[in-house]
Amino acid sequence: MSDHTTGSPRPGAGPGRPASPYDVVVVGSVNADLVVRVARRPAPGETVIGSELATHPGGKGANQAVAAARLGARVAILGRIGSDGHGEFLREALRIDGVDLGHLIETPGPSGVALISVGSDGDNSIIVSPGANGRLTEDDIAAAESLLSAAPVVCLQLESPLATVVAAARVAGRVVFNLSPPAVVPDELLEACDPLIVNQHEAALLLGSHDTPGRQARELLSLGPRSVVLTLGADGAIVAEGEDVTAVPSPRVEPVDTTGAGDAFTGALAWRLSQGDHLVAATSFAVRVGAASVRRHGAQSSYPRIGDLESL
Ligand code: ADP
Repeated sequence: MSDHTTGSPRPGAGPGRPASPYDVVVVGSVNADLVVRVARRPAPGETVIGSELATHPGGKGANQAVAAARLGARVAILGRIGSDGHGEFLREALRIDGVDLGHLIETPGPSGVALISVGSDGDNSIIVSPGANGRLTEDDIAAAESLLSAAPVVCLQLESPLATVVAAARVAGRVVFNLSPPAVVPDELLEACDPLIVNQHEAALLLGSHDTPGRQARELLSLGPRSVVLTLGADGAIVAEGEDVTAVPSPRVEPVDTTGAGDAFTGALAWRLSQGDHLVAATSFAVRVGAASVRRHGAQSSYPRIGDLESL
């Protein structure tokens, strides 16, 4: 295995911080992805007949948790699932990959759902109904404060209420924040990120401008995070930290389906950071995991085990 195994001592084991049973704690969304293929999307007021319905486990939080756990990380997820039929299915998908479910709270009402139509061009249109994810509260964070403060790395995204994400960042040790879906967030949250992770589309929305990836990464860093990782699809990622901007190329692969590649990347990066890797080394590992994930269909179903990376 390459350079990513070297690094400083594990952040969670530092003086003053109690040992954590987890490498990574994910605070975030758990969704059922309901996918229908259509020849073309309906115009307003129109009905079209689609393919048979496929139901997959998804949600950015769950995806990141599964990505890290499948690689060998000890992972817990703090989130909410509904009391509907999807809840049990979503719980099972996480359990199979060994994600700790002790902080996954069942909530009366529907689970989060993503309604996904896939056109003949392969493009997705997605409507997310937050369901139980929208009921993850600041009180839930307060109740899990020791879990979050002890964890070497806490992964956050924005499919949970913003106030809850800010509260989590306040008590977490190292925050890996995937600012997705894009939104305006308080400086306090940005300043907690180490790193802030966005893709090129999200970076353009946040910065309100298009520029070279290197300049975008620097501009993102000037918003306040301790470090930035800008993901570039087939081109890999750029890391900005202090004065350094480092391009990390992705292995060349034949992409089949890029759904959830960013979540695979983030889960992998979080795990390597929890093991003491420096950010560039962790990113070098994460681009291989992202590349492996686009070689197969689906999101979680495409995520690699450590042995699957040997060919990259
Ligand atoms: P998102 O999935 O959030 O839109 P990206 O498209 O930037 O984010 O992909 C995240 C990571 O997944 C990239 O940094 C890269 O490592 C990997 N990846 C995505 N698409 C490809 C591709 N076509 N070939 C190789 N790697 C890819």
